[in-house]
Amino acid sequence: MAKIAVIGTGYVGLVSGAILSDFGHTITCVDIDQNKINELKNGVIPIYEPGLQSIVQKNYYYKRLSFSTNIKEAVQSNDVIFIAVGTPPAEDGSADLKYVLDVAKNIAEYMNGYKVIVNKSTVPVGTGQKVKSIIRDIIESRQEDFSFDIVSNPEFLREGSAVQDFTHPDRVVIGAESHRAFDVMKEVYRVLYINETPFVETNIETAEMIKYASNAFLAMKITFINEIANVCEKVGADVQKVAKAMGQDGRISPKFLHAGPGYGGSCFPKDTVALTKIAKDNGERVSLIEATIEANERQKLRMVDKIVSAFGDLKDKTIAILGVTFKPNTDDMRDAPSLVILPELVKRGARLNVFDPEGIKEGAWRFKHLGDHIKWCSNTYEAIQNTDATVILTEWNEFRNLDFDKLRAVGGSQYFFDFRNIYNKQTMLEKGFKYIGVGV
Ligand code: NAD
Repeated sequence: MAKIAVIGTGYVGLVSGAILSDFGHTITCVDIDQNKINELKNGVIPIYEPGLQSIVQKNYYYKRLSFSTNIKEAVQSNDVIFIAVGTPPAEDGSADLKYVLDVAKNIAEYMNGYKVIVNKSTVPVGTGQKVKSIIRDIIESRQEDFSFDIVSNPEFLREGSAVQDFTHPDRVVIGAESHRAFDVMKEVYRVLYINETPFVETNIETAEMIKYASNAFLAMKITFINEIANVCEKVGADVQKVAKAMGQDGRISPKFLHAGPGYGGSCFPKDTVALTKIAKDNGERVSLIEATIEANERQKLRMVDKIVSAFGDLKDKTIAILGVTFKPNTDDMRDAPSLVILPELVKRGARLNVFDPEGIKEGAWRFKHLGDHIKWCSNTYEAIQNTDATVILTEWNEFRNLDFDKLRAVGGSQYFFDFRNIYNKQTMLEKGFKYIGVGV
């Protein structure tokens, strides 16, 4: 079994570390955030991710999983070092490599023998080589001669189903330059390897590109159906049926064909922009992705327009907002459509009653600037109470089965904006609602 350090204990690092420890390896999860590490040592999981808590607690109890802020010790006492820190967008839209390169320097400063350095963060093509040269330079300046391998192992998990995705990946991508590194990675992922998970073995640059190409394609697929939905609204077609029939074509597949308020989250928005930057820096264009980014911004504002055009004016209107996270089963709000839509509604004079099953803590600081225009509610019907409209922004399961008698009894409105298309338009019209979905 391998001894592994995972540097960066966020959504990706914590899930990877916990599950690799469940696979039997000894894992040290490292972070610079002392609070986070303290919480984890006390059994508190800093993120909401279904199924993760029990895996963390079990493996921590059996001492296969530990948490630390001591990167020196983690580097020196482990053979495989994963880098899983954030790569947020820099001002020009490119991925900010500051955190990745800081960790690379730390690894080089503390290295004491052969290490396999695995980059799991999403990084522009060429970063693996950059990390290699930084580490080589520092080792040389230390007058040491340790050998090491760089591996690119991009992560494809989805928040909200991260445990399932990590344990049942469609493929594991390994970019490396030596047989030794490939063998070590097969050992790391032995449980998946013997289960016949497809492994893609390639060079570092290809592995780095696979991640960006995959995310950009998925973002484009979502945007495609959103734009088709917008046309459907004008011509009397039903995008739900269009998407279903399209998805039945094996070449297309039904996934990521759900019309909605635009994609968000910690990956698609930043990775699409970063890909256009990578292309530009290399004298190329990915015009489909440039168009995707623009259309996605328009889609969020289109949701605002739908509400505004129903009322004409939002002054003195109180609107119930159900869901602020970028998708259900996560507390993550990075680049969520709500971050654009809610302030726009407030700008037009609306007051908002907001409920989200897991997003309230995160939302409270992200929407602090909206002051008392926003009221956080502790459940769905408190949010709906005495409002002029109900807006579904995130398709949490508990919003899929609303009690419409109760909605009316608490003073909910006939205006029902279903921006995730989780209700049937005809049924809602028959119930007496003014139903507005996306492309239906
Ligand atoms: P995150 O922000 O949740 O976590 C990053 C962690 O790294 C934080 O806890 C931070 O404190 C820590 N950190 C920063 N600098 C450090 C240092 N020098 N030493 C130790 N720890 C340090 O980020 P995330 O969502 O887990 O994403 C990590 C990477 O994985 C990104 O490149 C992202 O694009 C990619 N990715 C994310 C997802 C996802 O769904 N979140 C999926 C696939 C890939």
